[in-house]
Amino acid sequence: MLREIKLKVDMVPRGTHGRKVVRPMNPRYITIHSTQNYTAGAERHSLALKRGALRSAKTKNGNRIGYLIWHFTVDQGIAIQHMPTSEQGEHADFGGPGNLYSIGIEMCEERGSDRNATVERTAKLTAVLMKKQGIPLKNVVPHYHWPRRGKTPPNKNCPHFLLDNGKPGAKWRAFLGRVNYYYNKLE
Ligand SMILES: [Zn+2]
Repeated sequence: MLREIKLKVDMVPRGTHGRKVVRPMNPRYITIHSTQNYTAGAERHSLALKRGALRSAKTKNGNRIGYLIWHFTVDQGIAIQHMPTSEQGEHADFGGPGNLYSIGIEMCEERGSDRNATVERTAKLTAVLMKKQGIPLKNVVPHYHWPRRGKTPPNKNCPHFLLDNGKPGAKWRAFLGRVNYYYNKLE
C-alpha cells in the first residue's frame, strides 16, 4: 500500500523553522485537515515549509513557535512527509492535545485536482499510520475535533469538504469507512 500512496520523505531540516524546537511526541491520534489553498499541491506546500514561509504569530496560548508545521501533505498524486511522527507539529489547537498527541495530515485542494484521488490516498496513508503506531479508528479525527482556545468558533470547519454543515456527519463517516477498508487490507 505504501507504493500506492507514493510517499516521499522530504523533511524540513531539524533545527530550522517549524522544527527549530524539537518537541518529542508519542502519537495517539491522527488529525485530518484540508489546506484551503486552491493554488498549491503537496510539492509547493513542502517547499513553503522548508523555506519557513508558513509563519504564524507566536502568542501566549496561541501558536507556540511562530510557524505552522504538520507531518504529511497529500494531493492527487503523491504524499510528502515533512517531519518525523515522533515530533509535535503545530497544526491543530496551539498547546492543546491535538498538537501534543496527533499526527497532522493536510489534504490539498488545488483547483482542478482530483479530490477523490486525494481523499483515497489520505485514507490509505491514515490506515498505514494507524497500523504502524497502534492508533485505533476512533482516534482518527477531523481538525474540527480539537477546540482552539480563544478562537471563534473554537471548532474549525476543517477539513471542510468532509464535514456536513461544518460538523462531522455522513461525509466524515464515509471517510472513516474508507480508512477502515484499507486498514483491514493490511496484514
Ligand atoms: Zn485544519
